[in-house]
Amino acid sequence: MSDSKKRNWKKVRRSAVFVIAAGILAASANVTRTAAASDVSGTMLAGFARESITPDVNDPKHPIWIAGFGQKRQAKSVHDELLASAVAISNGDKKGVIVALDAIGFMHNDILDIRNSVQKELALDFVIIASTHSHEAPDLIGIWGPSLTKTGVDAQYLDLVKQRTALAIRKAVERLEPVRLHRMEIANVGADVLVDTRMPQVFDSNVRVLRFSKPDGNQTLGTLVTWANHPEVLWNANTALTSDFVHYLRTGIESGLVYGDAAVKNGIGGEVVYINGAVGGLMTTLDDTPVLDRVINETLVTPSFEKARAVGYRVAEAVIDGIAANKETEISDSTLRWTAKSILLPVDNIKFRLAGRLKIIRRKFESGYKTRSEVGLLRLGDTWIGTIPGELYPEIANGGVEAPEGNDFKLTAPVEVPPLRSAMKGGMNMLFGLANDQIGYIVPRSQWDVKEPFTYGESSAPYGEENSLGPNTAPIVHKTMMEILNGAD
Ligand SMILES: [Zn+2]
Repeated sequence: MSDSKKRNWKKVRRSAVFVIAAGILAASANVTRTAAASDVSGTMLAGFARESITPDVNDPKHPIWIAGFGQKRQAKSVHDELLASAVAISNGDKKGVIVALDAIGFMHNDILDIRNSVQKELALDFVIIASTHSHEAPDLIGIWGPSLTKTGVDAQYLDLVKQRTALAIRKAVERLEPVRLHRMEIANVGADVLVDTRMPQVFDSNVRVLRFSKPDGNQTLGTLVTWANHPEVLWNANTALTSDFVHYLRTGIESGLVYGDAAVKNGIGGEVVYINGAVGGLMTTLDDTPVLDRVINETLVTPSFEKARAVGYRVAEAVIDGIAANKETEISDSTLRWTAKSILLPVDNIKFRLAGRLKIIRRKFESGYKTRSEVGLLRLGDTWIGTIPGELYPEIANGGVEAPEGNDFKLTAPVEVPPLRSAMKGGMNMLFGLANDQIGYIVPRSQWDVKEPFTYGESSAPYGEENSLGPNTAPIVHKTMMEILNGAD
């Protein structure tokens, strides 16, 4: 990326004005909640369900504001259904659900509302709700509204999302049936379509898949897929609601790579639940990143649905081919164990505090300017899944945190070490980003840089800090996750 391009890009991002997520929230007692450990060597059960969370874009009384990029971007049409995609999982003893929402983010207080509405009723040991981080879906945080002082969240739409998500959870639980479980990790997928906009260059580009198949035969009931990229291929001028590349990633795996009326590669069936990974730093396909569509043999640059398709299909193809090439490992372990810790994060970001005060975002402050969030670990068979409440810088996950000259705290060594994945002992180690909250960027403290001189010889401050709660976020998230990981056997 050229310097001028980088500057333009920063300007586009910054016009979002207030910060992603912000925060300050209600609720949930200040306690550590640890689900009792229990393993049953029995059959694994799973059930999939999805509900549309697409709003009506033609109701003049309820304009829908698209989140991501600048404010005042009103939705005019719908390209593809936005979904709450749920998978329920049980080992006969413990039971829970994982849900992906096609949303830029969903805050912890709203997630607690959904948990309160279903957890007791369905006797669930865990409810994990993550956002795909689509930048082409309605604002559910508040900072992308019609003006600086008006929230972008339509209360009626927020209610609909909560109800439909609860419905998807209920249906997924109803559909629990015996399954076989398979895992597969494919290294470095889509390297040519991914950009890291900030030093150091660290990606979270491995695709990790959990596939649930019928016990007899190999028919796919559904898959849980993680990869890390900002779903913003359509960029900032699009007014059609869409889950962006996620739509094509899901439909590609399910129904195949389709061009016109023909599938050039068959899908595997079932329902895909796509969860984003460590997207901070940030992982994206820029509006000038060339993307080669291998099928039509065309390089796409200008933001378009064709370009989003090429990105989504890149991942879908890797998954389909990997399964066909027998790269999966069957999981016989039926562990199902959830451990979570509630965390209290200082809100050092003045814009976040203001957004909370102005009710642009609906979180409450606690103990002064602090906000409640959560990190967790799900043990699913021999796979470990860490839940991160925002946009984690990949170096905290995979290693490579630096302490460059010019960092604001004059640190000479990284704080968030060792990398989280090095402490995960699963046969496969997934990290869910934007899970159970969206607190914005989780920036390594030794890379924090708002003051001159700037790191890496840059002439201006890098992007990220203004959409973060503050420099204390990453150390707390990392330390708490390490405690959970080290406490797990
Ligand atoms: Zn983001």
